Parts: sequence; C-alpha cells; structure tokens
Amino acid sequence: MKYLTALFVSFTILLFGLNQTGHAQHSNWALALHGGAGTISQDLPDSIKQQYYDGLEAALSVGEKVLKDGGSALDAVEMTVRALEDNPLFNAGRGAVYTSEGKHELDAAIMDGSTLAAGAITGVTTVKNPITLARKVMTDSRHIFFSGEGAEEFADQTGVDRVENSYFDTQRRYEQWQRAQEQSHLKLPSEFKYGTVGAVALDQDGKLAAATSTGGMTNKQFGRVGDVPIIGSGTFANHVAAISATGWGEQIMRNVSANTIANYKEFTGVSLEEAMNFVLTERLNPGDAGFIGVDSEGNISMQMNTTGMFRGSVDSKGNRTVMIWQNE
Ligand code: ASP
Repeated sequence: MKYLTALFVSFTILLFGLNQTGHAQHSNWALALHGGAGTISQDLPDSIKQQYYDGLEAALSVGEKVLKDGGSALDAVEMTVRALEDNPLFNAGRGAVYTSEGKHELDAAIMDGSTLAAGAITGVTTVKNPITLARKVMTDSRHIFFSGEGAEEFADQTGVDRVENSYFDTQRRYEQWQRAQEQSHLKLPSEFKYGTVGAVALDQDGKLAAATSTGGMTNKQFGRVGDVPIIGSGTFANHVAAISATGWGEQIMRNVSANTIANYKEFTGVSLEEAMNFVLTERLNPGDAGFIGVDSEGNISMQMNTTGMFRGSVDSKGNRTVMIWQNE
C-alpha cells in the first residue's frame, strides 16, 4: 500500500511538473520590447499615438505567444523584432530612415545568453528582415559579424528574403530626411537621430536572449556603423541579463553600454534596474539613450534619459504594459 501511495504521489508530481509542451515547468517567462527612444512630443495626435500603441501591442503579443507556449527566448525576440521591422512606423526594416545619400542601410544583432552565441550584420541594403539574417549568421556560419555585400550574399545562401532598397521607402522618413539635410548634421535635434527596435526575453527554460534592429540615424554618412550590431554595445545577453539599447549610437558604443549593464549587475550584485540607471546617469548624458532588459529571474527594466521610449513588456506573473513617455 505504501508503495502504491508513493507511486501515485510521484506520478501526480510528474504530471503537474510538465506543461502542455512537455517541458519541465519553469515558473517565469518575461518579454520586453522597444521601438526607439528620443524626443517624442507629447503633442502627438491621438490617432498617431494609438497607432504606436497598437503596433507595440501587436509585436508584444507575437513574442508573448512564443514564450507562453514554451518556445525559446531566441524565437521570441526574433519574432517580436520581425513584427516591428514589418511595421513602417518604426525605424527598422520597412520604416528605416534614409542615409545622407537617400538610401537605407540596416544593422541588426541577436544574442543567445545561454551560450554566448551571437550573430550580427551591418550595412545591408536589400534584406527584408535583418534580424533573421543576423540569426542565420549565428546559427549557420562560423562567424559572428558580416557586413554589406558579404552579408547579402550570405542571405542568398541561407534563403533569407531580399527586396529592392526602395521597399524601405516611406513618405514620413523621406520628409524627415529632407528636413535633416537642410541642417548641419551636428546640430540635428534628437528627433532626427533616434529610432530602433529591440526585444529581450527570458524563456521557461530559464534562458535569456536579446535582439536589436535598426535603420540607424537619419542622414547618417555612407558606411556608418552604429551600436546596434556591435555585440556588447547595443545588444548583449548572458546568464545574468539580456539588454537591447536605443539612442545615440556613438555614445552607446563608447560606453559599451549593454555589456556594462550586465557586468555592473553581476559584479556588484545590484538589481537590473540599478545597473541600468548607473549607465544612464553615470556614463551617458541626458538625452542619449534608452534600454530594455530582463534578468535571469524575470525582472524587467525599461529606462531612458530621453523624453520618451516606445516600449512594452509582458510576463508570466500577469504584468503587461505599453508606454511611450515616463508614465503614459
Ligand atoms: N542606436 C541607433 C544607432 O545609432 C539609433 C537609435 O537607436 O535610434 O544606429
């Protein structure tokens, strides 16, 4: 009888310990995304505001489904970023900004916190979803970082969709670029500089991942590489945290910002929030940047020293937010 009871108890534990996909249940999953930080006017018409909220919500739901169903953090961040790349509102993929030559050059990176595997691309002009190519670099090559033509050839080898550069044209970015061209580059107000998309996630297996994708900065010089594809600057994930940045790329790069946040947390034992705040206040200047991050316990932090950052988050504890400014 004792044996039968023990058997019954173990069977029940086993049954409840597995979720529908057969994974051992891990208590937490969490996802955060951003659609760029910068000077975002509070006077944005309600209809435009709503479009941003809807775009963020839609992308959030894509990643949320992956994580809820027991999928990987890597799949969640790639799918979330793809959804943002396909939305012309955001400066990545379809809505990418114009370079000084009036073209589009895209950068992207993805990183697997559980293995430190990473993939990045820069200066691609014909890849529809740069984040998917970055992931292919990570999984299908011996390398981490491809640029320009080599990256595009690699896209053909791995079956990643390519499009004409004009696919990335949008009227809004075109007008922004025209206004930017009329001004000296150094004096550009930050509204011209910023915009990028990114996602970070913790999955049910306790693995972290980060992904970032961008058209870069409006009117950027031909060949300019930003922080986004530089592993450790705009994109980083390890066993401690996954971070994605947005803002003035040169400043983010100088301070190796995403990696500094993860290291500061690891080496001092402070919370993710405090580590992010350290970089924003002690390393960067007001108006420079915004970050989203998630740590190995599923704590999410989304902070910026700009007036706004398009962002959202959702987790297994039932929290869900979509915001643009500090409290809205
Ligand atoms: N960080 C990006 C870059 O410098 C731009 C941005 O996030 O808005 O390319």
